[in-house]
Parts: sequence; C-alpha cells; structure tokens
Amino acid sequence: MSDQNFRAILTGSFSTPCKDNPTGAMIEAAWESDGTNARYVNCDVKPENLASAVAGAKAMEWVGFNCSMPHKVSVIQHLDGVTDAAKLIGAVNCVSISDGKLTGDNTDGKGFLESLKSVTDPAGKRVLLLGAGGAARAIAVELGLAGAASVAIASRDVSKAEEIAKLLAENTKSSASALPWDGDIDVPEGIEILINATPVGLGDAEAMPDVNVETLGGVEIVADVIFNPPKTRLLRTAAKKGCTTLDGLGMLVNQGVIGVEQWMGKKPDAQVMAEKLKEIFGA
Ligand code: NDP
Repeated sequence: MSDQNFRAILTGSFSTPCKDNPTGAMIEAAWESDGTNARYVNCDVKPENLASAVAGAKAMEWVGFNCSMPHKVSVIQHLDGVTDAAKLIGAVNCVSISDGKLTGDNTDGKGFLESLKSVTDPAGKRVLLLGAGGAARAIAVELGLAGAASVAIASRDVSKAEEIAKLLAENTKSSASALPWDGDIDVPEGIEILINATPVGLGDAEAMPDVNVETLGGVEIVADVIFNPPKTRLLRTAAKKGCTTLDGLGMLVNQGVIGVEQWMGKKPDAQVMAEKLKEIFGA
C-alpha cells in the first residue's frame, strides 16, 4: 500500500455574501508555507441552506468551519454544544467537529483581545466601546473576562448598549455602563482604551465614527475592528493626537490562528497570515 496521502484536511466558512472574506486566503497562505495539506473553502451559504451545509461538513468529516453573517446565531441550533464564552455572547463564529460532535465557540472577542495585548494589558483599564452589535458584544465579554476595570458601551440604540452592560455586570467583575450615542460623542475623562466596533470605515477610508476628536487626546490606545482599509480615518486622526493605534488586521489574524488551533491542534504561522493580509489590502 502507498504511504502517500492524497486526502486534504477540510475546513471553510459559511456566510452570505462571502466574496469579500479574506480568511481563507490568509489561512491557506500559512498552510502553503508549512506544507500542511489542508483546504479552507469560502462557501456562500444562504440562510435556508445552513442546515444542509452544516450536515455536509459533518458528513465530509471537515475538522471545523467558521460562520459569518448572517449565521452566527442561527447556527447554534445545529450544534451539539457551545463554549461558555459563546453562550455568554450568544453567537458562534467558529465550530469544531470532533468524533462527529459539533462545538461552537466565539473567537471574535478573543482575536481582538490577543491583538490588544500586543500593546497593553486590558486588566484594570477603562474602556469605551463604540457600537453594540455582534463584534462589540464579543469584545465586551472578553474585556470583562480579562479584568477591565470598566467598559462603557455607546450605541445609537441605547437599549442594545444596556443589554451588553447588563451581561457584563452579571457575569464579570468589570463595572459596565451604557451611553446614548447621538451626534459627536465626547470621550469621557479617564478613558484609556477607545474601540470602534461599528462598521463605520469599512470600505471607506474617509468615513469616521461620530466622535469629538478634541476629546481623543487623553486616550492611550485607539483600536478599530475595521480591517479594510486598515488605516481608518479614526486611527489616522488618533495617531495625530498622539494615541497608540491598533488596526483590525490583528483581530482577523488572531481569530484565524485560534480557529485553526482548535480544529487541528497546531497553530498556523501568524506572521505569514499577517503578510498575506497586508499584500491583499496593500497595507
Ligand atoms: P453588527 O451589524 O452586529 O453591529 C454593528 C453595530 O454598529 C450596531 O451597534 C450598529 O448600531 C452600529 N452602527 C452601525 N453604523 C453606525 C453608525 N453610522 N454610527 C453609529 N453606530 C453605528 O455588526 P458586527 O458587530 O458584526 O460587525 C461590526 C464591524 O466589525 C463590521 O464592519 C465587521 O466587518 C467588523 N468585524 C471585524 C472583525 C475582524 O476580525 N477585524 C471580526 C468581526 C467583525 P445600530 O444598531 O444603531 O445600527
């Protein structure tokens, strides 16, 4: 019998639309560099086909898959279980398949935290989070679990911010508050980390979240979840004010690393992944 192995390890992503998702290109660059025989298939899956896609991944013995919009919540009903973080966040973006059992995790916040830790330890820090959607919720939970002193969440719909603040207050030691966001928001005195977790800036280098830039000066770190383009107007403005800035590329790389490690027990090369993204986005 031949000792050659023509069977690739299979992974991928289910979302729609999916054509702008660079995760597969990023992860496959790492596998190519270290000779791993694995594939990441970026699949356009409509909501009515999610159950079949999940069953297909299981039938074909994929080791796992990512879920992006609009499946992060609806995928949960097709899984055997979720991690504590995913349960708290209420959404799954990474599913591992082992012995035919599907387990969902949420790596959005973990990926962001890894990136943030490259510039500061969030423990004991005072944070202002802009936005109250899925990314904000995941980041808020991980900040709370990492021991941030306080997390203020600003949202146009303050009830969504209140929901996240309640989640943090009930499940972490961080103090949490909700701020209404109507027009240019003043960054409150004492905030050390400001995070844009809205889509403002995605695909538009000139778009700027409604922030009073005169109040940015005292902030130590300004971070953005936006990875395309990486140098958002918020980050460029903050850098001019003397803040340390953190773009969304690190979050994207880190969640890829975490996912692959969960699926295959081996970390892909983060440096190769970051270089691939810089090549893709011309950063
Ligand atoms: P959601 O749609 O779940 O949430 C978006 C949030 O932003 C909502 O609170 C929404 O408020 C708010 N928002 C939207 N537009 C504005 C605006 N003009 N002014 C103020 N608030 C606004 O999206 P996600 O949380 O899933 O994603 C947010 C961004 O994060 C996306 O651009 C996504 O690409 C990026 N992301 C990046 C990742 C990375 O790896 N770098 C990983 C995951 C996400 P309202 O309810 O009032 O509309």
